[in-house]
Amino acid sequence: MTSSLLPTDIEIDMVPDTMTWQHAIATAVKNIEVLASLLQLPVAALKKGQDAHQAFPLMVPMPYLQRIEKGNPNDPLLLQVLPDIRETDTISGYIKDPLAESDFTPQSALVHKYKSRLLVIASGSCAVNCRYCFRRHFPYADNQLSNDEWQNTLNYIERHSHINEVIFSGGDPLMQKDKQLAARIQSLETLPQIKRVRFHTRLPVVIPQRINAELVDWVNSTHLNIIMVWHINHPNEIDEAVIQAANTVRKAGVTLLNQGVILKGVNDTTAVQVALSERLFEAGILPYYMFTMDPVQGAAHFDVPLAQAQKLMGQVAAELPGYLVPKLAKEIPGQKAKTVLMPID
Ligand code: SF4
Repeated sequence: MTSSLLPTDIEIDMVPDTMTWQHAIATAVKNIEVLASLLQLPVAALKKGQDAHQAFPLMVPMPYLQRIEKGNPNDPLLLQVLPDIRETDTISGYIKDPLAESDFTPQSALVHKYKSRLLVIASGSCAVNCRYCFRRHFPYADNQLSNDEWQNTLNYIERHSHINEVIFSGGDPLMQKDKQLAARIQSLETLPQIKRVRFHTRLPVVIPQRINAELVDWVNSTHLNIIMVWHINHPNEIDEAVIQAANTVRKAGVTLLNQGVILKGVNDTTAVQVALSERLFEAGILPYYMFTMDPVQGAAHFDVPLAQAQKLMGQVAAELPGYLVPKLAKEIPGQKAKTVLMPID
């Protein structure tokens, strides 16, 4: 195996206990040949997605890679991160901005769709490139949250007194340094109208080491309610390290929820959805939303028809107590809230 991106002394089964989240990001696998070698898969098969990789590069850190079964080209975690030749197909109805977010961007780095909640694009990068991401074409370069933009954000909130919750999204908001996150939270504390701060993040799932002492410090030091909505799609994503990370943030007082997306070939069966909810509960994370996929260009092969999704969640509801059944929802541009879809028998 040769790659300057991967330290030669790290093997897939040997991620050192001392690895920091920054190190995990710096050593993430970004090369298809390296991925094939680590997972013992034929390079030629993986290279079919080369054009998709050029457009939206492969990126998968070692702590996540460890959870992918070697030799299995259909591993549900691998399918979420592996560039696929079908991403380059042009499919009618699958577009670059499926939620029309550009229509709800009052100023750079902000999305204001719902009355009391303001979404802030806190970072343009992630720890992993999920192939189905609805923001895979988002113009992050035009939406950088500089200090000036942050001040503009605070001014915007003050002009809109009905905003009582700020949602940090991205990209992944936990890609920001803890020092900067602490400063952002401190400045939100000066606005009496703000009651809650929410983080939509996949980083602690991909790299559980992200939940470190520095993060716990700023969570502990604010009087604001902190909510984290993690993004987990499959029970195999929840290993012992993820459970530990979840315990740590809950002990720090964070309300911890999960939202996932129904993806063909990944989690579109009753057995997987039931196992996901059970595993989430073991980890102390409550299932919140399960979304149907947003029709983003490049991800049509993951889409599951609406009626099938409703039937699936109907079967899930028949097997689980209500508190473990996530709300099946769809985001429709222009609606005042998410559209909740009823499960069907
Ligand atoms: S972590 Fe979230 S924002 Fe980043 S690529 Fe994955 S789905 Fe998209």
